[in-house]
Amino acid sequence: MMKSYQTLLASPTQETLYQAARLLQAGELVAFPTETVYGLGANALNEQAVLEIFKAKGRPADNPLIVHIWDAKQLDGICEVPPLAVPLMDAFWPGPLTILMPRLSSIPDVVTASLPTVAVRMPSHPVARQLLQACGLPIAAPSANLSGKPSPTTAQSVMEDMRGRIPMILDGGQSEVGLESTVLDLCHGTPTILRPGGVTKEMLEGVIGQVQLAGSILRPLKEGEQALSPGMRYRHYAPKGQVTLVEGTQENVLSAMRSLARAAQAHGETCCLMAFSEHVPALSDFRVYDLGSVLHPEETAHRLFEILRKTEEDGMSAIFSEVMPPQGMGLAVMNRLGRAASFHTVSALDVLGDPEL
Ligand code: AMP
Ligand code: MG
Repeated sequence: MMKSYQTLLASPTQETLYQAARLLQAGELVAFPTETVYGLGANALNEQAVLEIFKAKGRPADNPLIVHIWDAKQLDGICEVPPLAVPLMDAFWPGPLTILMPRLSSIPDVVTASLPTVAVRMPSHPVARQLLQACGLPIAAPSANLSGKPSPTTAQSVMEDMRGRIPMILDGGQSEVGLESTVLDLCHGTPTILRPGGVTKEMLEGVIGQVQLAGSILRPLKEGEQALSPGMRYRHYAPKGQVTLVEGTQENVLSAMRSLARAAQAHGETCCLMAFSEHVPALSDFRVYDLGSVLHPEETAHRLFEILRKTEEDGMSAIFSEVMPPQGMGLAVMNRLGRAASFHTVSALDVLGDPEL
């Protein structure tokens, strides 16, 4: 049976930070802000506490968690440190980079889904750092959403998903990056990005040379294909409406989105578009969510999950979205958009040539 709580939403003060730290020390869960998304934390060394995370989120037990630390000294009790990790930690910690390292036996199996590696990150958000320091523990924390939903980037979104399920949420404002951390595997040959995020492939290569991308970042797993990162197997980031990505030249995409929206409306769908700021005026006949400037993928990353949640709140059943080149931060954006759409993509040219639309 899951416990039930009167969930406290608290601004971070010295007092509430200590209250949150005491809850974590007592084996309870606390949601807290990080620069990527909000995390749902538990003492990583306490198996029972970590099990509560899986219950509160409805997360499958074979999807491992990231362990958060505030000081590199804490690594001694958690994992071995591969030589390549050292320059990466120097360059990108604290920040949105998670590194897989060989685990020590102090980390319970529930944290790593019994894998031989543990994922570790040092967040840069001051509230996360203060909380980690105050409790003095490594904290296992996935994103603080119900499993399958877009990750929360505001305390209010955490409240929507976690009300009654956890004792406390610390409110640190809207997460700056807006997408989860980059997950990098250093334990199996060439360093491999399992999940793209705020630290891009190009940034990593600037420090350690060649880095490769896991195959399923921009496509679904093939039948029988093993997920290097177990999280890749699951439906993720998806709002209730069906998201369709529209590809092609800018002009064709805008015309195709209009046709698709009109056809969806004619079929009784509650329909909307997701478009870049520059294109919003041209689509003003329809309900449009503004993805930010086409020139700044960081802006789209920052807004994306809140927009996906808003489409759900607004009851949208059909959602058509523009895409961006999968380069730099655009790769992380397209990974999340692709998964939100279950990789459902149409070509603008095909749409424009379709006599039924
Ligand atoms: P979340 O905490 O919701 O951001 O998810 C953490 C991500 O890191 C998931 O995609 C996990 O599958 C991945 N992950 C965590 N630990 C490991 C590990 N030991 N090996 C591979 N992937 C991992
Ligand atoms: Mg997550």
